[in-house]
Amino acid sequence: MKIRIGHLYPDYLNIYADRGNIAVLTRRAAWRGDEVELTTLSVGDTLESGAYDLLYVGGGQDREQALVAQDLGSKRDAVLAAVADGAAMLAVCGGYQLLGRSYRDFHGVELPGIALFPLETVAGERRMIGDVLLECELEPGVRRTLAGFENHAGRTLLDPGAEPLGRVVAGFGNDGESGYEGCRVGRAVGTYLHGPLLPRNPWFADWVLAQALAHASGGEPPELARLPDDLEAEAHAVSARRAETRGGRFS
Ligand code: GLN
Repeated sequence: MKIRIGHLYPDYLNIYADRGNIAVLTRRAAWRGDEVELTTLSVGDTLESGAYDLLYVGGGQDREQALVAQDLGSKRDAVLAAVADGAAMLAVCGGYQLLGRSYRDFHGVELPGIALFPLETVAGERRMIGDVLLECELEPGVRRTLAGFENHAGRTLLDPGAEPLGRVVAGFGNDGESGYEGCRVGRAVGTYLHGPLLPRNPWFADWVLAQALAHASGGEPPELARLPDDLEAEAHAVSARRAETRGGRFS
């Protein structure tokens, strides 16, 4: 199968090696005989809503978010239509914040979001930095952990009834209080977890790939062949241990 990935603003939103997530998706697809066709989309580029099986956006500082927010607004309808049509989406930190209704930055400047996710974010005085561990249940009854790293001033408030990505086991998560992290709408997921996230969470990389393959085939997410993820499992264990011993400390 061919998986068409649209990578939004790689030249603006890419901190903590967030673009490494694309490398993981590309390699894991190739190991199973699937092909990734990657298109980068930045300021001024047109996003064709039906052209992608997976949209991806990384994180960035307030300055970079301000440089792309207006352009993202011009892509709003296409992104919402793509996700409504069943395309998968993964958004990290600053990108995640701009997929909500708005992000008020550290200086009180309100950046408009595209309201894909039912949430809004307001930057606080102190940054929330450190290793994070979540417990997720993306499939009913199947609980797994996600381990990563967070660094954000933004406090994200989900609307009542909104679905988080996971429960915080260690770390801050969305706002350091709710006990939840991230947000999910169908096949679209937003998270504060950098790292990059996917090398140390192969099950989640495969979940994202399966959602994209479902869109590409017009069917259900396929059961993917298992890969020898020993190194990935070790990286996850190290990251999880770090989170449990030192996650969730204000800077
Ligand atoms: N600038 C945003 C914040 O501070 C997002 C940071 C990030 O992407 N790591 O909350």
